[in-house]
Amino acid sequence: MTKILIAEDNAVNRELLRELLEMRGYTVVEACDGEEALRMIEQTQPDLLLLDIGMPVLDGFAVVRKIRENPRLAPLPVVAVTAYAMQGDREKILHSGFDGYLSKPVNSPSLAEELDRLLTKRTGQDLSQDQASGGQPSGKARAAREG
Ligand code: MN
Repeated sequence: MTKILIAEDNAVNRELLRELLEMRGYTVVEACDGEEALRMIEQTQPDLLLLDIGMPVLDGFAVVRKIRENPRLAPLPVVAVTAYAMQGDREKILHSGFDGYLSKPVNSPSLAEELDRLLTKRTGQDLSQDQASGGQPSGKARAAREG
């Protein structure tokens, strides 16, 4: 079972991501701030981390830096989840140690694409047939905003 850690301080956004992931059959674990995210990586050994940029205690940039500095954690695929939609931010994020980038509100097809790309690379499995089960974002998805 593929396990995804969601690190996100906004409860609505966390719940939205959980729904989208569970709909696709992933096991979900959660963290509410950057420090908890690092602790949960150690404790639950996720296959991939969805990491909010704007979070208390440690922000997403600090968390991904600590992950890449730790040889034991470094191989973990990390996808930035952020409302920062201005030009240049994607570039900055992808040069900060993240493997991918999703802008809020996250929709199911984009999420599926990133997970398939990164988890396929990691496991060598072809998960593209799961693509068909991706649905349209719910009203809640469209309503969710950065916390
Ligand atoms: Mn946030």
